[in-house]
Amino acid sequence: MVKFDSNPITCGRRNCAVCGRWRLIIDFKWRWYKSGHIRNISTVCVPCINAKGRAYWKKKSKAERSIIGRRNNEQAHARRNRDREALAEAEHELAQLRAITDIPPNHVDFQPFRMWLLWHVREFRSPNAMAERAHKKAVTVQDWLNGYEWNDVSCEPVPIRSVKLRDVENVTTYLGHPEAVYGLYPAVYDR
Ligand SMILES: [Zn+2]
Repeated sequence: MVKFDSNPITCGRRNCAVCGRWRLIIDFKWRWYKSGHIRNISTVCVPCINAKGRAYWKKKSKAERSIIGRRNNEQAHARRNRDREALAEAEHELAQLRAITDIPPNHVDFQPFRMWLLWHVREFRSPNAMAERAHKKAVTVQDWLNGYEWNDVSCEPVPIRSVKLRDVENVTTYLGHPEAVYGLYPAVYDR
């Protein structure tokens, strides 16, 4: 619902509170709620608002104008910085959420598999021996046991979030526990 102020709107026009002219309501400033509903329509027309601004500006001395101009610039700069910071923060949070929740197709959550490997590595002499039996590279199995891998670009450890379901099936089967996947990932096989 549009809240009507002192001057009613008739046939899409309103009486400006300053100049008294009947003007189309598109000649007035509109304000909206975030929801998209109209909050209000100014009672003073845009030409009057602009004229007031020009008059205000005209009365100011050169020094005052430069002060106002600088202040406006600073405020605009600060506002842009705040917007940029808020955006960067939101993007960072989103990236973190994505990293946790996004599991690629044909992948499953890594943690159950890692816990299983940590438990079963004790059946072998070493991680390397387990890797050989599992038909996997030793470095891959070592990364799985560590729970992270080294990023080639940033040279930083990156937590492993997911693993190919096919890898889990193959490894557990080669290691003599073909039934393990059903216990580790019941939801995958429930369908
Ligand atoms: Zn007016």
